[in-house]
Amino acid sequence: MADPAAPRGVTERLQDLREGGLYRRMRTIEGAQGPRVLLDGVEVLLLCSNNYLDLAGHPAVRLAGASAYRDLGAGAGASRLVSGNMAVHERLERQLAAFHEQDRALLFGSGYLANTGTIAALAGQGQVVYSDALNHASIVDGCRLAGAAKFVYRHRDVEHLAWAMERTAGEAALIVTDGLFSMDGDVAPLMWLTELAHKHGARLMVDEAHAVGTFGPGGRGTVAAAGLCDEVDVITGTLGKSLGSYGAYAATSSELRELLINTARPMIFSTGLPPACVAAAEAALELIAAEPQRIERLQENADLLRSELEGHGLKVGGSRSQIIPVRVGDPERAVSACSRALDRGVYAQAIRPPTVPDGTSRLRLTVMASHEPGELRRAAEVIASAVAAVGAGGEWSIDLPDESGEISVHDVRPAAEMPPAAGNRV
Ligand code: PMP
Repeated sequence: MADPAAPRGVTERLQDLREGGLYRRMRTIEGAQGPRVLLDGVEVLLLCSNNYLDLAGHPAVRLAGASAYRDLGAGAGASRLVSGNMAVHERLERQLAAFHEQDRALLFGSGYLANTGTIAALAGQGQVVYSDALNHASIVDGCRLAGAAKFVYRHRDVEHLAWAMERTAGEAALIVTDGLFSMDGDVAPLMWLTELAHKHGARLMVDEAHAVGTFGPGGRGTVAAAGLCDEVDVITGTLGKSLGSYGAYAATSSELRELLINTARPMIFSTGLPPACVAAAEAALELIAAEPQRIERLQENADLLRSELEGHGLKVGGSRSQIIPVRVGDPERAVSACSRALDRGVYAQAIRPPTVPDGTSRLRLTVMASHEPGELRRAAEVIASAVAAVGAGGEWSIDLPDESGEISVHDVRPAAEMPPAAGNRV
């Protein structure tokens, strides 16, 4: 008989995932990335890429990467603190700092590493990190790594956050949030977060992974859009989405950058980014500045797809961006809606727990600047009929607070009315 204390076998764990509708597999794209791709041999409209501006395939971006390969070699050869720090790294860091109106920037191997490394460097034992319930997994893992206590406030709920901060006075280290939420396409209430950070002596860190190149003036993100570049302590961003490359960064003050260089373990103990990734991102950043019409086109396309979906009776939650969630509910239905749409040439990946909370499985549609209006109209019809066929498409249950002024962070409700989410520290 099997020992009940033995760890569950691999086969059983995979079987559990299959039975729960949570089994994942990779589909293969042949050839290059773009608005239409060859997926497992069939041409489809790609509606689930973060290559929002289609710069991964832009000739100038490719050429910059290729030239760096030719002139600088394939790799950095060591951690930047040993001998892997190259002029090309420092040049991109200067440009990223200027883009976000921060003193300095520091490259990391990926957005996952930037978030985990930065959070762990900014908070530790005896302190509290406050994190939005829908923050990206790399932020969740960063909070775990930090060893600090974590308070997860309800999505965009500044009253819940204020309530927790009052109760942890003197221990507040960091508020951390996605700027543009990766799975919902809505925006963090940054004005309120800034105010709370000041009031309680905490730092504020904003992950602009999905907002760079898509949101705010010149695609400079949600912080720039809110006019808060001077108020935020750290902005993280990735080179892997709108910038069409690979890698990531934290943009911050000179002093915090020094702290990261000295304490952020993913930066200290990983090889520096390959020069080609850096040069390609640099070319993409230049294109974003030189050709703002790409961002306008992206936003027009997002508006079009959102209104077409709504025209077909679908709800898109609080999306205000190129990320448009179509809620399905349970994971099997989401997978089934995805494959129905795929049968008609539209690829919108099903997103399931743990990427999103239980009961909120969805098709996460992402628009690209290079999609044609006609194909987006057809895609909306295809998605709507796929979702209708699996019997979903209901209401969003997440309550989105109104940013227009009704909530006052000074007007914190009594504790009895504001219970913490299960598992929280306070
Ligand atoms: N932050 C957010 C909000 C993300 O969505 C992602 C990637 N999905 C990351 C960070 C990680 O970025 P990277 O892909 O560069 O690791």
